[in-house]
Amino acid sequence: MLCSGNQHPNPPNGTRTKASTQGNKNTKMPIKPKRPCLTPNCPNLTDKTYCNIHEKSEKIKQRANHTHTSDPFYSTARWQKFRNWYRRKQPLCEMCESIGLTIKAQLVDHITPIKDGGKKLSSDNAMSLCRLCHARKTADDLKSGI
Ligand SMILES: [Zn+2]
Ligand SMILES: [Zn+2]
Repeated sequence: MLCSGNQHPNPPNGTRTKASTQGNKNTKMPIKPKRPCLTPNCPNLTDKTYCNIHEKSEKIKQRANHTHTSDPFYSTARWQKFRNWYRRKQPLCEMCESIGLTIKAQLVDHITPIKDGGKKLSSDNAMSLCRLCHARKTADDLKSGI
């Protein structure tokens, strides 16, 4: 008489994959309802506000908008005049330039934020940036707790 204890009580059964029960899944796992991404014309569904693709860019955009609209100085004629002058003087993104890239600047930003006492209308405290570098700089400024 053989007394082997290693017999599988449930022999592997490889033929149990049926995709017939759509919408009738196990109710054990709560599934968040997905909504369409808030970005216009984006077909992706998400359980957040934006899909994975747009979440990052929207966050950066919102932050950038926030920091710039939070200071009324950025909408003054004096700043805009200075910004135009500086951009003519420095038409390329200075951050990209420092790593050897030639990218057209999209905007002028302060090196030291004016909230931190940086000079408002001085070319010493101004920097031409492309959108990417500006978004990165703004995110860094926020990360460092300003
Ligand atoms: Zn999207
Ligand atoms: Zn750049």
